Amino acid sequence: MNSLEERITKAVKLLKSAQAITVFTGAGISTESGISDFRSKGGVWDRYRIVTYQEFISSHEARVEYWRMKKELFSEIKDAKPNKAHTAIAELEKTGKLLCLVTQNIDGLHQDAGSSKVIELHGTNRKAVCLSCGKLWPIEDMQVRLEAGDLAPSCDECKGFIKTATISFGQAMPEQEMLKAYECALKCDLLIMIGSSLQVEPAASIPREAHRTGSKLIYINRTPTPSDHLAEVIFSESAGDIMSKLNSLLR
Ligand SMILES: [Zn+2]
Repeated sequence: MNSLEERITKAVKLLKSAQAITVFTGAGISTESGISDFRSKGGVWDRYRIVTYQEFISSHEARVEYWRMKKELFSEIKDAKPNKAHTAIAELEKTGKLLCLVTQNIDGLHQDAGSSKVIELHGTNRKAVCLSCGKLWPIEDMQVRLEAGDLAPSCDECKGFIKTATISFGQAMPEQEMLKAYECALKCDLLIMIGSSLQVEPAASIPREAHRTGSKLIYINRTPTPSDHLAEVIFSESAGDIMSKLNSLLR
């Protein structure tokens, strides 16, 4: 691997010549905001069993367990603030070169940082949805219900099960979002991937598709990924540090 300085220079060059940039983010970008990656030890995910979508819709006990975990997760994410990497992406959008921001995250921190072109592949933890009629609530409404002793909230209009508006294990990926994400991968000439180990399909195929159709790739991730060999530049340093450095050099 080249020195940090050489990699920064190369990345700035790619950013300057790019006309249409897609940014793709995973859990790693939010760990610097104090949100635990579900693959890391000691987090909320370590203390709870993952409830699949099938279990959620077929068992009251599973729904209770699901909401118990979410309740604990809320207290973790309540005070989370966007970090330097989120802010740098929002600034990149202001240059007019950002095609879209595809994220696997459900924490809403990109929007908090000021990004608007966000495609959420795994939905959002900021809203709750009735699985029967599709009614939406701000997540705060569910927090109030849980605090009041409701163990598994149900819809006040149709009695359907309420779940966070996220994509659970076993639940189909959102079709529109997937289509838009692939479209951005095909149209961009530079894709910046931040904080994903690219282990999960179909998300992992987005940078691969971008590369296949001629886009250059910049990877910023703590650990190696299966498609590192496709990337022009790889950073294993802090995403916040690298992104703000790149932004300051672009100005
Ligand atoms: Zn309903």
